[in-house]
Amino acid sequence: MCYFRYAASLCLLTAALAAAADTAWPSVANGFFEHRYSVLDQINTGNVDRLGLVWYFATGSRRGLEATPVMVDGTLYTTGTWSRVYALDARTGRLKWSYDPQVPRRAGAWACCDVVNRGVAVDAGKVFVGTLDGRLIALDAATGKPVWSVQTTPTDRPYTITMAPRVIDGMVLIGNGGAEYAGVRGYLTAYDENDGCQRWRFYTVPGPADDASNPQALARAAKTWPDARWTQLGGGGTVWNTIAYDPRLKLIYFGSGNASPWNRYLRNGGAEDSDDLFSASILAVHADTGRYAWHFQTTPGDAWDYDADGNLVLVDLPIDGRPRPVILQANKNGFFYVLDRRDGTFISANAFVAQNWAAGIDPKTGRPQLAGRPYDDGGRITRPAPYGGHNWQDMSYSPDTGLVYVPAADVPFLYQPEPRFAPLIGAWGTGLDLAAQAAPPGMDPLLLKALVDNAVAGKLVAWDPVRQRAAWTVKQAMPWNGGTLATHGGLVFEGTADGAFRAYDAGTGKLLWDYKLANGIIASPMTYEIEGTQYVAVMMGWGGSFALSGGQAAYVPGRDYRGYLLVFKLGGQATLPPPQPLDSGIPQPPPSTATPLQIAAGNRLYNQYCAVCHGANAISGSAIPDLRYLPNAVRGALDRIVLEGALQNAGMPEFSRQLDARQVAEIDAYLIKRAQETRASLTQPGWWASVKAFFYRLIAPALNWINALRH
Ligand code: CA
Repeated sequence: MCYFRYAASLCLLTAALAAAADTAWPSVANGFFEHRYSVLDQINTGNVDRLGLVWYFATGSRRGLEATPVMVDGTLYTTGTWSRVYALDARTGRLKWSYDPQVPRRAGAWACCDVVNRGVAVDAGKVFVGTLDGRLIALDAATGKPVWSVQTTPTDRPYTITMAPRVIDGMVLIGNGGAEYAGVRGYLTAYDENDGCQRWRFYTVPGPADDASNPQALARAAKTWPDARWTQLGGGGTVWNTIAYDPRLKLIYFGSGNASPWNRYLRNGGAEDSDDLFSASILAVHADTGRYAWHFQTTPGDAWDYDADGNLVLVDLPIDGRPRPVILQANKNGFFYVLDRRDGTFISANAFVAQNWAAGIDPKTGRPQLAGRPYDDGGRITRPAPYGGHNWQDMSYSPDTGLVYVPAADVPFLYQPEPRFAPLIGAWGTGLDLAAQAAPPGMDPLLLKALVDNAVAGKLVAWDPVRQRAAWTVKQAMPWNGGTLATHGGLVFEGTADGAFRAYDAGTGKLLWDYKLANGIIASPMTYEIEGTQYVAVMMGWGGSFALSGGQAAYVPGRDYRGYLLVFKLGGQATLPPPQPLDSGIPQPPPSTATPLQIAAGNRLYNQYCAVCHGANAISGSAIPDLRYLPNAVRGALDRIVLEGALQNAGMPEFSRQLDARQVAEIDAYLIKRAQETRASLTQPGWWASVKAFFYRLIAPALNWINALRH
């Protein structure tokens, strides 16, 4: 077996010595250094075109699937929606056991970015999973029966867990998310893998004195928060995705998210120079005690939701002619960072996507120089968006090419302060006016599509971390594509938003294999070998923050949101069941009796409160209901659903603290208008729609340019 933990050479040697043995994928990122690289090369550049589906497992879900499976001792362990765990025979796909932690569906209201889970950790006969409602559960790896369970978050605050735990030296490490809501303070906790007893906890931002860990580091951090009210409320800085480990240095590395709220002017009373440590930072702590070792803040005083939670990769790189232990991150802020992982010393950074928030990065300190004020009352269109130049979708590193394969995105976002922001604990609370993204009511849906298509882009970037530049780039149809896998077969695998699973030549980016699917992929692939056969596995299930807020997948016809685990091998002959698209007929809405003012108010309210899940401009990009398709029977119950929480157990939050009956009626008036517009658009003659779409594509760049000038 090859536990890829230390260096590629050691792993290659192990593989050669044990050629006949199975090759595991023992943790979500295949080892402490989190390269997401495999030494396997049975599937390679010469034969990948013969790769075919060998088996699949239907999760029975229609929401996002983000897990990377783990393969240990012939069993594939993975997770689905609502933190469900599956154990399958890695050769045949036979389900050995499944475990449903019965997450209360109301926990979905606190999940900013879908009811997803990014996988398990496996060690010492146990499988560890973090649940959406904040528990860490140890299961018997053979039976799936719970061994212990611990509540890792306060249940009266809007915390969630979507990350995969990591096991390091007998400890299970888990963080949590929630910094888009008011009342969350980020931390990472280590639990004993045997009994779930807490070993240590590291808070990323200062807070009430009585639960301060690392008092010196947090006292220093407190000086960078001019207005302590926000740290008393929560402060953000959540550790929601990545953890890496260097066993030689005994340092654990992780990232922290945005300070809460996003709007830095609210947070800091207008102070321009407050950093709000240790939010938006890469951090290192001593593994045995959880004591602070070092930090590097990627976005001081973040104003844009530039979490530093993108996956961290540990490599030894030749810097100025000598090898240096470094840590790599393609940050949400659009810059690729190389730091010395011994002490956090900044080595280099460069932009891997278009960005306009920073004028540059100080080459000595790594501190960004801002390109003017982040935003003012008029708002500012900024790149990257809160979705990030690179988000949680994992990048991979190949020691064969020395390149890092980054699923990158170019999405602009209008950052505009919310006029009257008052944080409500447990409620969405960024301090930014999400309604600023709304299209004017009455805009032709085809024009809206053309504007979005023109504004956003996705790409796979092969980044040279030494030269800090792209070796090659492949343009994708949309942003929000899957994570990547690199292999010794000279391949890079990636699933895409528009429904494909692809393999590229790792050295050149040449497309070598293109497997078409009816659903999008956001998860990262993995690979393993059993009895001399190499398999490649990936979870298929479109979702996550970009999808929920509308994405572009809404425009992909015949979309089937059913989720699957897909497993491939050379010569595989299996086929998925035929697509089952969601119903595409829009019920006839009642006649609109609202005034244009009421519809405009409804537009603002919808896009402020509903769009993060149901999709901007009432176009759902996921299986969460598209409210233009609202049956009239449900329409009559809107008050009960929105104000009284009638569908809380289906995951629909109640908004009684934010909205009243008059405002719900305004949202309904807007939805009726949108349903009418969409019906009209769908019933127009095809030739006329084509002519209009062609014309809109021509004028979209100019309209987007004019809009950018206004902001
Ligand atoms: Ca965030």
